[in-house]
Amino acid sequence: MTVHFPFDNSYATLPDRFYTRQPPTPVSRPGLIRVNERLAQELGLDPEELRAPEGIEVLAGNRVPEGAAPMAQVYAGHQFGGWSPQLGDGRALLLGEILAPSGRYDVQLKGSGPTPYSRMGDGRAWLGPVLREYVVSEAMHALGLPTTRALAAVTTGETVFRERRYPGAVLTRIAKSHIRVGTFQFFAARQDEEALAALTDHVIARHYPQADGPLALLDAVIAAQAKLIAGWMSVGFIHGVMNTDNMSVAGETIDYGPCAFMDTYHPDRVFSSIDQFGRYAYARQPEIAVWNLAQFATSLLPLIDADHNAAIEKATESVHRFPALYAEAWLARFRAKLGLTSVEEDDAALIQALLDRMAQGQADFANTFRALGTPAARDQFVDPAAYDSWATVLEARLARDPASAEESAGLRARSNPAIIPRNHRIEEAIQAALAGDLSPFHALTEALQTPFEAQGDYARPPTEDEAVTQTFCGT
Ligand code: AMP
Ligand code: MG
Repeated sequence: MTVHFPFDNSYATLPDRFYTRQPPTPVSRPGLIRVNERLAQELGLDPEELRAPEGIEVLAGNRVPEGAAPMAQVYAGHQFGGWSPQLGDGRALLLGEILAPSGRYDVQLKGSGPTPYSRMGDGRAWLGPVLREYVVSEAMHALGLPTTRALAAVTTGETVFRERRYPGAVLTRIAKSHIRVGTFQFFAARQDEEALAALTDHVIARHYPQADGPLALLDAVIAAQAKLIAGWMSVGFIHGVMNTDNMSVAGETIDYGPCAFMDTYHPDRVFSSIDQFGRYAYARQPEIAVWNLAQFATSLLPLIDADHNAAIEKATESVHRFPALYAEAWLARFRAKLGLTSVEEDDAALIQALLDRMAQGQADFANTFRALGTPAARDQFVDPAAYDSWATVLEARLARDPASAEESAGLRARSNPAIIPRNHRIEEAIQAALAGDLSPFHALTEALQTPFEAQGDYARPPTEDEAVTQTFCGT
């Protein structure tokens, strides 16, 4: 059974210095973990074709499908604030772009073997990070937030060495594109204005056709990121590695590494084992986004205005609009989480007061919001009285809101997920998979398709023994 992808490769028409053509490296024994049937259908692909032996060969990188133009894309980036002039796809390859009913998408294999950008790495991924990215990216999508998607995961039959031996795996990732802030930085650092202009035109045509030039592109990316980060904050998501090479100009969540959804709320929460100084802590994400967007703006300067000072002035003005855009998106998200449909000046303070009490009271992020308006909310707090005094203010505010109590409750139920991909569940699924049992992974993935419906045990926070407070890059 031949696999058909409706390839239409546009990045491959950009100049050679944007990428290196590179086929995936075959693996010894491809095995299917999961094909995302719903996503395949949405994209106009046949899930049966993907599950058939030839399809699995494609997903493992053993066979290059017709029409593909496999390549490693080059980029640069600031990693934890430090400049890396050359990064690029070191363990991933863009197979090509497909034209789906809903638009153009990259099809990428992650863990597909070494590339010229692998540096010291082996170009491979092990089962853990592949399952983690599958679960979390699909959960993110089901939560209604822009994200890359997981089309499939396969095992390779090969061993990957990290601190120990692990089974290798490959993730097939779908994205609007894999163009990063770091892609712009790569060419800006080389003062390659011709490439910058070509990249800018490409991104505008592909993602922001309404933008009439580099400055409008900057504004569009800033607006998209403000919305995205507000969305992350509203579900307690911590990306963990907000390096500029991990920020998509299409505004999607990308490069799930040591990311996590918080259990107990705290603004300083960090999961990543490599984030020693809390640079990418939960509450720092909006300011880090501004930092990254300032790098993006800097990259675009030569295109924004031939007069350097004028360019700086315009770009600065744009970056300075982020806080207001972010605040607006954040308020919209959190008002809905409280069940509010109207606007009052004190709403931000009301929300912040709840968050402060949650931090103080060691309240579970997801479950506290989910329980608002019910007696169960106060049980989330070490000191329930602290919640009670806040709840009377919310009640008064809800009474002034034009929405009925029922409407507010409905809005809360649609805005506060009952289940999130909790770390201990992901860890449990990975450990079971390592022992040969994929059923916890499948069950978790299924449950997270409908995160606004309460289901079984998935809403339960970890016990002290179960809690997983650190996540690893897994590279
Ligand atoms: P990340 O922070 O995981 O997005 O990766 C940062 C950079 O390291 C990217 O250029 C990756 O392609 C590269 N990289 C990460 N893991 C590996 C690996 N196992 N082999 C080769 N390159 C890698
Ligand atoms: Mg990355």
